[in-house]
Amino acid sequence: MTTAPVMTVDAAIVAELEAIMNEPGSVLTGVSSRANRARVPAPFPLHRWAEHMPAVVVLPRTAEQVSEIIKLANRVKIPVVPRAGGTGLNDGAVPLRGGIMVDVKRMNQIHEVDLADRTVTVGPGINMLKLNEELKKYGVFYPDTPASYPCSLVGGRIACSGWSLLGSRFGHTRDLVVSFEIVLPTGEIIRVGDGGGKKVRKSSTGYHLKHLFMGHQGTLGIVTEATLELVPRPEAEFAAFFAFDDFGNAHRTVYGIVTSGIATLAGTVLFDEKKIEYLRRDDEAFIPMPPWVNSIVATALYGTKPEVREASKLLMDLGRKEGGRYTGDEMAVGDWASRHDRYANPLHGRLKDGTVAPMSWHCEDASLNWTVIPKVREEWTAIADRYIDKFGIFDNWGIYCYTNAAYKPWGDYLAEIDIGIWEEKLDDESWAGWVDFKSEIAKVSLKYGGSITACHGSTRAGDAELVSEEMGGGWDVMLKIKRTLDPNNIMNPGKQMLDQAYES
Ligand SMILES: Cc1cc2nc3c(=O)[nH]c(=O)nc-3n(C[C@H](O)[C@H](O)[C@H](O)COP(=O)(O)OP(=O)(O)OC[C@H]3O[C@@H](n4cnc5c(N)ncnc54)[C@H](O)[C@@H]3O)c2cc1C
Repeated sequence: MTTAPVMTVDAAIVAELEAIMNEPGSVLTGVSSRANRARVPAPFPLHRWAEHMPAVVVLPRTAEQVSEIIKLANRVKIPVVPRAGGTGLNDGAVPLRGGIMVDVKRMNQIHEVDLADRTVTVGPGINMLKLNEELKKYGVFYPDTPASYPCSLVGGRIACSGWSLLGSRFGHTRDLVVSFEIVLPTGEIIRVGDGGGKKVRKSSTGYHLKHLFMGHQGTLGIVTEATLELVPRPEAEFAAFFAFDDFGNAHRTVYGIVTSGIATLAGTVLFDEKKIEYLRRDDEAFIPMPPWVNSIVATALYGTKPEVREASKLLMDLGRKEGGRYTGDEMAVGDWASRHDRYANPLHGRLKDGTVAPMSWHCEDASLNWTVIPKVREEWTAIADRYIDKFGIFDNWGIYCYTNAAYKPWGDYLAEIDIGIWEEKLDDESWAGWVDFKSEIAKVSLKYGGSITACHGSTRAGDAELVSEEMGGGWDVMLKIKRTLDPNNIMNPGKQMLDQAYES
């Protein structure tokens, strides 16, 4: 059984929603309110906008309202799609079958700051920039720092199981969310954490349900409150960028840094040749590099002053050991700071003949081990060249590899290939080409023992079809969980091939 598309709702449903919300302006049926919530920044088939509109938008303030909305949807079998900041890069918040969109932006309160047990409890609609502005006066911060730091929201971070720039030092979203409240697809409100308890970080009681609902992309319920980790604001921060004329040396340098045992290491990023070429060519904010530079290793330390002072000396030695050259303080400080806000992306690219065209950004974000990065890079680049040649509306914006595993930076890397797409030129044929392009990229990641996605999720066409392959025997368990928790398939239906849970 699959939930049928619901592109319009009748007046009786709207009236029921209005009774639940009991606040003017909290149930929206106008075209612009719905159209503005139909897409995310990732490439979108503009020519098929109408197919992705929610039928109605609601802006709840409490978990009880969310629960009532879901009970209503479950009763009449209407799809429900949660939406937070709408910055997800995998279409998680894009309705595939219309229905009710639950926009959580009004649930943006800070409920409690507990400086004794070091937690902050918030609604899912707050963003990390705003939260940390409020926390500054206490000398603490919440260190979930994606490149979408100013615009993604706590609810979306949990639903995507996000990746943080400072993850090697402080952990990623899954490590930083202590517990959260979630409304299940049948309307019950429960709390999940690392065991029972709202503020307990380690428990051995029962199943670890927190991880089941971490990264579920709105397919298992709606998060309505979260209790988050507080860490001391770092006293010192030190960023260093090293330039290379050879990718192999840069790749080895990353290895040296991440296996050095430096405890204050917050993150390391490797830029490949295509990335440098793109930044030089089209990003006015990029600090120019001499022509011989074809790779960069960027790295940063966060900690107390004495810790960072000592570690920075070791870091400078490691960065230069394989021939890296320090690029200067301007780049280290300026470019590192800009990594917390990649909305600065230029949003234009080049056609094959060099013509500049307006383009949107797609980021294919695999998890890969260090050893396979050079080979995967070669294969991804060859795939991109082929599709650029064939369709003429794509551009290769190069590869970044970021340390991915929390507290063990020698583990895997978030390796992303960024592709520019001229959306206005998309038609059915080139959209199908784009889906094949993505699928080929993901298959290479799987071939080398990687994951399709490190933090964005696999809910887009091109990735979704491969989830069962990556999950292996776990796929069947996933389907059973989905069907048990969401018997009528109302939560974000059509995503990740989860409709299979309802096939007899
Ligand atoms: C410029 C840019 C840079 C980025 N950099 C990073 C990065 O460094 N690291 C990273 O991890 N990601 C990054 N992203 C991707 C994106 O910001 C993250 O995936 C983020 O976690 C999405 O949060 P959001 O609030 O925008 O969620 P949305 O896009 O609104 O939703 C994402 C998913 O969560 C579900 N959802 C939303 N709210 C809830 C809720 N309350 N309960 C249940 N489900 C919910 C939605 O249905 C959807 O499936 C970047 C995006 C952009 C545009």
